[in-house]
Amino acid sequence: MAAALRPREEKSLEDFYINRFGRPLYSMFFEDYTQKVWGLHPSRLGADWGAQRVKGLSVTEILKDMLMKGLRRKPRHVETSLIESFIYPKLGPGQLWETVAGRMEQAGGELRMNERVTAVHVAENQVDYVETVSPDGTLTRRPCDYLFSSMPLKDLVASLTGIEVPQEVRQVAAALPYRDFITVGLLVKELKFKNKTHVPTYDWRIPDTLIYIQERDVKIGRLQVFNNWSPYLVKDYENTMWIGLEYFCNEGDDMWNMSEQDFIGMAIAELVKIGFVNRDDVLDATQVKVKKAYPAYHGTYYELDLVRAFLDGISNLYCIGRNGQHRYNNMDHSMLTAMKAVDAIVAGTTDKAAVWSVNTEEEYHESK
Ligand SMILES: Cc1cc2nc3c(=O)[nH]c(=O)nc-3n(C[C@H](O)[C@H](O)[C@H](O)COP(=O)(O)OP(=O)(O)OC[C@H]3O[C@@H](n4cnc5c(N)ncnc54)[C@H](O)[C@@H]3O)c2cc1C
Repeated sequence: MAAALRPREEKSLEDFYINRFGRPLYSMFFEDYTQKVWGLHPSRLGADWGAQRVKGLSVTEILKDMLMKGLRRKPRHVETSLIESFIYPKLGPGQLWETVAGRMEQAGGELRMNERVTAVHVAENQVDYVETVSPDGTLTRRPCDYLFSSMPLKDLVASLTGIEVPQEVRQVAAALPYRDFITVGLLVKELKFKNKTHVPTYDWRIPDTLIYIQERDVKIGRLQVFNNWSPYLVKDYENTMWIGLEYFCNEGDDMWNMSEQDFIGMAIAELVKIGFVNRDDVLDATQVKVKKAYPAYHGTYYELDLVRAFLDGISNLYCIGRNGQHRYNNMDHSMLTAMKAVDAIVAGTTDKAAVWSVNTEEEYHESK
């Protein structure tokens, strides 16, 4: 707690964590996990990620939460990271978007999937059309009244045509850092340990959805239990469990280049090593790779304002979402950026400040 009395200047993510949790807890819970997620030590990462990810969570908030629970009282405000239950769509969040897509089409809208935007053409500081390519290679020009872009900023800037992009804007955008992601799904008969919490669960299975793996001797960063998101996600819920192992890497590195078979073999061996499963209980496995899963906060990220100022000058272009803003936005933030863009259009303003302001509140400074 001494750390909280004499806060360090927050130059890095390490400072951010130590101010909120103290050095011992930082070393135990954040240092190695953060290194796994970003491939960089927290002392080399900006404090911004902590502000957006951890928000108001701190030792004080955790103790308050524990005390209130001990007294069986409902706190007035619960930090997101301490929430114990939430509403989840039966078949996962994709259902939200299927519903949105259905309503949009019912209202006369047209949805085109599996077309890649390869060029964004600008004339007189307005997006005129985008050029798309379909899986069979067909190129199509699609005229735009407005363009909401959720493609990575790096790709957006590279795809601009008809407008002179200043050299420094091009350079900053081209060098924006990302972290890529590989997940392995394992179908298992059971996990090696049972639920010891007060939360009732089927067959005393553990109640967790996400488990963070701090151990430095394994590469796995996080583990999901899909049965606990929704029982409808697992075909034979009573006799099997689908778990997801999460690995953070860079496109083209050793992990990325491993064959699927070797990667799954490594993932199973790690899970056996940390005592989660018995090797003989693994029934099936699959692997999914995700490029640019995480916009990263180092390098030219700190010059992003240059890119933003340039793109804001294109009047009918709105940068929304996560990679669309190169910000660690979750789904709620991402939706909100699109809603703010709609508000701006309805209000007849080309000011994009409200769109960019989502998820920038630095309430942790205020709470100090
Ligand atoms: C492992 C992981 C776990 C997460 N867990 C959660 C969670 O529990 N809760 C939460 O709220 N958020 C979570 N998120 C974050 C959430 O996924 C994002 O905030 C959200 O998906 C961002 O929405 P988006 O529309 O900006 O981007 P995306 O959902 O990434 O959509 C962008 C789309 O644009 C497409 N695209 C890119 N380039 C082009 C192009 N040139 N032409 C055409 N299409 C293109 C992409 O293929 C993609 O379909 C998680 C993210 C990851 C990686």
